[in-house]
Amino acid sequence: MDRIVIENVEVYARHGVFPEETRLGQRFYVNAVLYLDTRRAGISDELEHSTNYGEVCCLISDFLQEHTYKLLEAAAEHLAEKLLLTFPLVERLELEIRKPSAPIPVPFSSVSVRIERGWRRALIACGSNLGDKESYIRNALQKISEDEKCRMESVSDLIVTEPYGEVEQDDFLNGALVVRTLYTPQELLAFLNRLEAEADRVREIHWGPRTLDLDIILYEDQVIRTDSLTIPHADMQNRRFVLEPASQIAPEWIHPIYGKSLLVMKEELR
Ligand code: ATP
Ligand code: CA
Ligand code: CA
Repeated sequence: MDRIVIENVEVYARHGVFPEETRLGQRFYVNAVLYLDTRRAGISDELEHSTNYGEVCCLISDFLQEHTYKLLEAAAEHLAEKLLLTFPLVERLELEIRKPSAPIPVPFSSVSVRIERGWRRALIACGSNLGDKESYIRNALQKISEDEKCRMESVSDLIVTEPYGEVEQDDFLNGALVVRTLYTPQELLAFLNRLEAEADRVREIHWGPRTLDLDIILYEDQVIRTDSLTIPHADMQNRRFVLEPASQIAPEWIHPIYGKSLLVMKEELR
């Protein structure tokens, strides 16, 4: 991908663990690589179609002077987030903050923290089979699009489906959405769980009736297996109510374990 490269922005700021560092301050140097598509600006020769690196440098400098962090890690984390939220064309970035005068009792030339952050694509399934199903889902979609760390890319049609599993219950309304997000998978799960709670969801019977269910189906091409999170969703390949809406909005997305697109997975389920 195309990139804009910024080297050694010099900033006098007050980050550090020791009191002298926050009192006296010292010099920091910042390197940034911004990944974005420069094609449109390349063709049009218009600044508004690109990202103004002058503004990026000023934001870096202002941000590091206005805040005080103990750790370079924290300074880098918050600055990266601020840059990604401020410059919408930047899809991901590498950021390095160097502290050549860090208080280290042996000779050294420099120390730095370098991170990579960016907007990640996630496929989310939504479902409801209790109360005003459509408004529970529409409300959740609204809150997701209002969250600054999520950008809604597409939303499928909502379909009516019969309940899954053994429990006797009302039909479901199901859909899928693709977001680009700054949340990690665990943070995204916590965010979605919060939305479920706000929709008065009570966790009672497994696979039982619920006002709102939001599952992470895919997150980039990541494979995750922890106690609280399995990605890709463990049962997606068996669920028409997931694959139908998902393949409508992201037919080419490849399942990282099966190596098949959502469209192919949906057709194989028929
Ligand atoms: P299913 O996951 O089979 O669709 P469910 O959605 O009814 O069942 P819940 O009661 O909503 O299950 O969630 C149970 C737990 O599943 C959650 O607390 C969460 O920690 C865990 N979980 C694991 N992987 C995921 C995922 N990819 N998306 C959402 N929750 C997940
Ligand atoms: Ca579910
Ligand atoms: Ca769930």
